[in-house]
Amino acid sequence: MNPVFIRVPFVVSSEVRWADNLSGMLTEAIRYFRVRDGRCYGVHVNRELKIDEHEGKVMKKLFRIHQSSGMHWVGNGFPVRSVFDYNGLGRELSPFLLLDYAAPYEFTPGKEKRGVGAHPHKGFETVTVAYQGELAHRDSSGGGGTIGPGDVQWMTAGNGIVHEEFHSQEFTRKGGPLQMVQLWVNLRAKDKTAKPRYQTLLKAQIPTVELPDDAGSVRVIAGDCGGHRGAAKTFSPINLWDVNLRAGKSAELPLPDGHTTTFLVLSGEVTVNSERDAREGDLVIFARDGDGITVKAKADAKLLVMDGEPIAEPIVGHGPFVMNSRAEIQQAFEDYQLGRMGEILA
Ligand code: MN
Repeated sequence: MNPVFIRVPFVVSSEVRWADNLSGMLTEAIRYFRVRDGRCYGVHVNRELKIDEHEGKVMKKLFRIHQSSGMHWVGNGFPVRSVFDYNGLGRELSPFLLLDYAAPYEFTPGKEKRGVGAHPHKGFETVTVAYQGELAHRDSSGGGGTIGPGDVQWMTAGNGIVHEEFHSQEFTRKGGPLQMVQLWVNLRAKDKTAKPRYQTLLKAQIPTVELPDDAGSVRVIAGDCGGHRGAAKTFSPINLWDVNLRAGKSAELPLPDGHTTTFLVLSGEVTVNSERDAREGDLVIFARDGDGITVKAKADAKLLVMDGEPIAEPIVGHGPFVMNSRAEIQQAFEDYQLGRMGEILA
């Protein structure tokens, strides 16, 4: 291969890094040039010259597209597809441990409570995003609330919590479509003993950022998008964005270098990095190196973007507990059985 020479002004640093394929296996070398104004150029040493000409940024490479499993019921209220969990793909998507997706499902009007009764969690956070339908939550920290379309619950299990997750009484009585996701976010070892906490993030509290060229919008549930701070308090750096894209439009989403970056397609169809198409239920996973991703909507599309700083610590999970060692899991079971995680008060 003939060498390629480019002229890069004001280089402040230059380094060769191996592209991260998420399993720690070598893929290829990239030479990065960081220039004085903060922009970054990347050159694939063994491949072609690849520079985004508009911004001079390096886009994160598409790593793979993963399809969710078949549907199963959680309690009698949540028909979910397991997109990933901490025994499989969740090991490579740190800090994200598990994602369950309830695709739109029509409930007939009913009388009996729908959902899951009291159960414990420890060592991480559960984030529930409602798109259709209405959910009610109560926990042993005294937290609780009802969320509807566009609202989010962010629960920190931390040192141990007991909670219940049901449809709201009103939604059960009336019936209608339910669509939601639940994401488990890991906590660093030092935060696994944090006091349990509950955040209700109502639609009105979640900032919406319009994308350039009328391409759509980003709801910043957590993190930072173009200087707009998300609504949720998090323990480690996380961007959780609800992205709406208009058919035919394309958007460049800035996401930090080194972060795990992935998104779930909730509806519509998109083309990723001008390479491959993804549709409803697909999980699109990117390599960690790079400053953002490019997505083009083939039809009006809705995406849940999950981006976060990886936590480089062992993951030992069992059922509702995710800790760093087997001994800590045994301790969690003991704490729960002895009532140390508290109870839900009427
Ligand atoms: Mn739960």
